[in-house]
Amino acid sequence: MSIQQVEHPLSGSAVEEPTVLTEPAPRSLVTAFGCPRNSLQNRFVYVVVSPRARGLSIGVNLNPDKYCNFDCVYCEVNRQEPARSRALDVNVMADELRQTLDLVYSGKLRGLDSYGSVPQELLRLRHVALSGDGEPTLCPNFTEAVQAVLHVRALASFPFFKIVLITNATGLDFPHVQQMLHHFTRQDEIWVKLEAGTQAYMDKVNRPTVPLEKVISNILALARERPVTVQSLFPLIDGEEPPPGEIDQFAQRLLDLKTAGAQIPLVQIYSATRPTAHSECGHLPLRSLSRIAQTVKKVTGLPVEVF
Ligand code: SF4
Repeated sequence: MSIQQVEHPLSGSAVEEPTVLTEPAPRSLVTAFGCPRNSLQNRFVYVVVSPRARGLSIGVNLNPDKYCNFDCVYCEVNRQEPARSRALDVNVMADELRQTLDLVYSGKLRGLDSYGSVPQELLRLRHVALSGDGEPTLCPNFTEAVQAVLHVRALASFPFFKIVLITNATGLDFPHVQQMLHHFTRQDEIWVKLEAGTQAYMDKVNRPTVPLEKVISNILALARERPVTVQSLFPLIDGEEPPPGEIDQFAQRLLDLKTAGAQIPLVQIYSATRPTAHSECGHLPLRSLSRIAQTVKKVTGLPVEVF
């Protein structure tokens, strides 16, 4: 199988991701990986043990109002329920981030019920993710929020942490977003969502207000400057898998990006795993995800991982 061999955080050994995911997880790990996130009683900052992060991620919710310009069929955010906070309070967020970093680095996180039996390796902080219940680049105080996170890091009260911006790429051409990205170090990362090769399929899965061509051009512009990880979730919709022709088109889009000079160190392929707000959406079998990964690898030669 041509899928990249990766170091799996549970075993510490090189394993092929599809094999790992077919094995039943110990109950303690079901807690760790099955729990979407733990808010720690915070308003904006949470922790999650994430396979794609390869361990512990501190998340900063830049969209407490749940605002997004996509309406993904698999989105976990229930927009029928009122938001707990209407706007991001940057000072409160920065305080919560410091407290959460302290919780993690002091080892007190392990004292919380759901983390007591999680392997130590999974509780090592991998990054601080700028993410949210919507699209983070649409956060009205995006600049102030990123500045605050950079400031917490610059004070060096804690060991250096990597920042990861997780985005649907639609706001990457905003001048203020570009300006903040210039403050990212080479260790920081940007993970962009690309889940379709055609506008028709994107309209079905992401239901966006921004066209696919803009997403592609934004990814290309940024990935010519710095490496960009591509995240691609393929759901089962009404029991139907993504059509093979769509996967071919998706792989071709990635090849076009690569040929045009985009630096893509990794394509992450996965499916909907947590409960979604839409009942028509389900988890794609592992063999199907592996097939998609093989197509991408064969067409593009890019490193691919399946989760
Ligand atoms: S881009 Fe993210 S937050 Fe927005 S609808 Fe899609 S999954 Fe939900």
